[in-house]
Amino acid sequence: MTKCTHCRLNLAVFERSYSGERLCSDCFCRSIQDKTRATINHYGMFNHNDKILVAVSGGKDSISLLNILAGIEGKFPDTELIVLTVDEGIEGYRDEAARIATNATRQLGLQQILISFKELYGYDLDQIVKMHGGRSITPCSFCGVLRRRALNIAAREERADVLATGHNLDDETQTMMMNLLHGNALRIADVRPVLRSTHPKLVTRVKPMCRVPEREISLYAYFQGIEFQGISCPYSGSALRNDIRFLLDGIERNHKSVKFTLFKSMERIRPALEALIEEREIGECRLCQEPTFGEICNTCQLLKELSIL
Ligand SMILES: [Zn+2]
Ligand SMILES: [Zn+2]
Repeated sequence: MTKCTHCRLNLAVFERSYSGERLCSDCFCRSIQDKTRATINHYGMFNHNDKILVAVSGGKDSISLLNILAGIEGKFPDTELIVLTVDEGIEGYRDEAARIATNATRQLGLQQILISFKELYGYDLDQIVKMHGGRSITPCSFCGVLRRRALNIAAREERADVLATGHNLDDETQTMMMNLLHGNALRIADVRPVLRSTHPKLVTRVKPMCRVPEREISLYAYFQGIEFQGISCPYSGSALRNDIRFLLDGIERNHKSVKFTLFKSMERIRPALEALIEEREIGECRLCQEPTFGEICNTCQLLKELSIL
């Protein structure tokens, strides 16, 4: 049995192949908290008096993020942490996840805001999927558009300074590859740890765990005894995202730090991409008055396509 390379006291339970560290569970958990704190500082994600809304679905990423942020931000008396849970309306899946999110919120003594697709759009996701039938857009892609809108509206109404989400290193590198394979190369510029507000109606979004691999977040949740929704969404993942996940995981088996390298490459080319993108004026959607580049926003276009609008 090997001793932990950090504390040199406890037995190591995890070997971080890309760094050579062998860690006990305490040192491992501390390393995840430190990495998240370092990411927050590196990108200047929060101010000491921010009202931070944390999007918590009940999955391992968002619950772990909440747990870590409560530890970090709880030390700043002027920072306010509020939990936001979106109920998309997915039978047999969301109820359980929402219950877990509510429990975690209560245990930390925080406030939770709940919003649903049903109240915002008139229909829940299950109904939309049925109405949508077999048309081209996948449930995951329209759920993503509707979720982002829901999160922004809730954050704005709550007058939050910033909205934090649990995106991890795997999510970010997969999205980068998806943009490339979809032919949206310039959109890689939008896959970033901080999306600063560029319009009074948009709330700044941050991803404090974007440099933590998904596998390590699962392990963190396990070691911390965090309860989270274990089953994945019945509509989970587009076919392309799942293929990319499989591909990157496969490459990583022999090339240990490939996801970090991809993430760093993305950071390096972002300024060049931004220079290529023309400054566009953000206006307001003609139908819903939410911020958009075009005349009609993505959400309204989608709702029209789904015959909801
Ligand atoms: Zn240790
Ligand atoms: Zn609109």
